[in-house]
Amino acid sequence: MRIGIIGSGVAGSLLAEGLLGTPGLDVSVFERAAAGEHAEAGTGLNLGPNALKALRLHNPARHAALREASLPWRRWIVELCDGTPLLDLDMLEVADEPGVRIRWSELYRLLRAPIAPAIRQGHALEALEEDAAGRLVPVFRTPDGALARHGGFDLLVGGDGRYSRLRALTAGEPPSVQLGVCIWRMLVERADTCPFDDYGQWFEGPNRLLAFQVPGNATYVAGAFPLDGSGSIPAEARTAAFQRALFTPAHGAPSPAVAWMLDRIEAGIDSIHWARMQEAPVLRHGAAGRALFLGDAAQAMVPTLGQGATQAVEDGVLAAAVLRTGGGAAEVAALRDPRLDYVRGLSQEASDTVLGTDPVSGTRKKGEAPFLEKLRRLYRDVPAAV
Ligand SMILES: Cc1cc2nc3c(=O)[nH]c(=O)nc-3n(C[C@H](O)[C@H](O)[C@H](O)COP(=O)(O)OP(=O)(O)OC[C@H]3O[C@@H](n4cnc5c(N)ncnc54)[C@H](O)[C@@H]3O)c2cc1C
Repeated sequence: MRIGIIGSGVAGSLLAEGLLGTPGLDVSVFERAAAGEHAEAGTGLNLGPNALKALRLHNPARHAALREASLPWRRWIVELCDGTPLLDLDMLEVADEPGVRIRWSELYRLLRAPIAPAIRQGHALEALEEDAAGRLVPVFRTPDGALARHGGFDLLVGGDGRYSRLRALTAGEPPSVQLGVCIWRMLVERADTCPFDDYGQWFEGPNRLLAFQVPGNATYVAGAFPLDGSGSIPAEARTAAFQRALFTPAHGAPSPAVAWMLDRIEAGIDSIHWARMQEAPVLRHGAAGRALFLGDAAQAMVPTLGQGATQAVEDGVLAAAVLRTGGGAAEVAALRDPRLDYVRGLSQEASDTVLGTDPVSGTRKKGEAPFLEKLRRLYRDVPAAV
């Protein structure tokens, strides 16, 4: 069986590693980025404990590599911007092991390393054709502008992210559901003076800072704030003065953590990456089961619980387990879609405090038994066998 994986991001790389060398499977990976292009990519991210559990159960080598290249995510604190504490959660109360904090470039590097010989870099999926046997033939644009074909595939897997070309070609562009919230992120390098370490969130009304240290003396900082009716990010919002006003307490001084971030935002305002919080409906397969979607290609979701890449990890290792034992797109859907419904529902529920719910009452609820039980299910409910 010929399997072609489009995109060597989180889900695509883990799927490829889990399939390579399986008797009867001929696996190829096609990646738009040129070799080394993502070497410095992006900022930082936190992967939930459920991603680590999925790796520990299904890919222990990658689990070890990830632990080695990251810092553990052990605590989750929430405060108001003046320092009033709202939540201080020991992650081991709700999870079997800590999550991780890591640089994007490092995550890509260590997930791609074991599949390097199977990746064709500089291959951007552009179109689809069919061969005489009814198999899908992907057509790629290469950096010199030429088109490349590598034959027909029994199964094509879209691991090509939020704007999946494979999904668009086989099932149409997914509609984007905008939540009316701006979400930005930056990486502060040389962060020696950072007064906090592990994962924290700081609220001033619905405006929220989220930050944590990552390896290499850097701190990841993300901001979220509501957009007005038009849903676009106004130019004045992209200024240091506007951002300082968003997170400065109405009464009293900012806490040392928030004061530190406000100064870094001012110094690094031009390095900020601006985006809008959005999600897309889940779709697991198309083209009569000949195309399978994993990660953001299947399920772009709100980033509130840090489950986007985390679910891409679960997708990659669990889809590999299904395909290795002869299953196809329908079997992957049966395993993954109920889980995704749960994770997306909980991520939406947890977004209440950036969507207008009072952060004090909304956050305190997250420290109570019913929400903690939901987190336990999120972080622990990863199958050992499929
Ligand atoms: C502001 C922000 C913060 C986030 N923070 C977190 C976080 O803390 N924790 C978390 O778990 N998630 C986080 N996420 C979500 C996370 O980024 C995604 O969910 C995750 O990267 C999805 O992984 P993936 O494997 O589906 O796709 P990706 O990792 O995006 O990989 C897609 C790959 O496909 C390639 N590709 C794309 N198009 C083509 C094409 N046409 N042909 C060939 N190759 C192609 C790309 O080059 C890339 O290598 C965040 C997202 C945002 C926007």
